[in-house]
Amino acid sequence: MIELGWLNHKAKDLTPPALFVVEGLVLGFTSGCYYRPFRGEVVLDGRCVSTERGLIVISGLNESRGLDSQEAPNALAHEWRHHWQTFNVRRGLPSHWGKSWSADYENSIVKFFKNPHEMDALLFSHHIAPCETTRLWLSFIQKNMQMNKETQ
Ligand SMILES: [Zn+2]
Repeated sequence: MIELGWLNHKAKDLTPPALFVVEGLVLGFTSGCYYRPFRGEVVLDGRCVSTERGLIVISGLNESRGLDSQEAPNALAHEWRHHWQTFNVRRGLPSHWGKSWSADYENSIVKFFKNPHEMDALLFSHHIAPCETTRLWLSFIQKNMQMNKETQ
């Protein structure tokens, strides 16, 4: 289910972000994104959406997944954690997916989650709403850590 109550419950002092579900549109390679709070609006699906409270955007559908899959709650938890980080972590920012992306999927994943905000969001989302994708990503990261240990 695409709603934020189950997450907002985890941090009652936090002003909940707005949530917008984009139907049938793929947000690059990800199923969600987060806008930090700023006075303004973004245009999504031809509509102006306020970013004043912070905004989570979830891509509803792409070729392989639908709204009811495990992926949607996981993506929601990941982006919600970025909202939480905005108010609770002083240093650094999450990454933009595009910057880590290369033809090598496994390497791209490992590189992306070297960002501590992304790693934190990955662990958080996998803890409360695990899905096949985060399971796979964590296995890539674990394998990479083992390889690094062996080559040291
Ligand atoms: Zn993220």
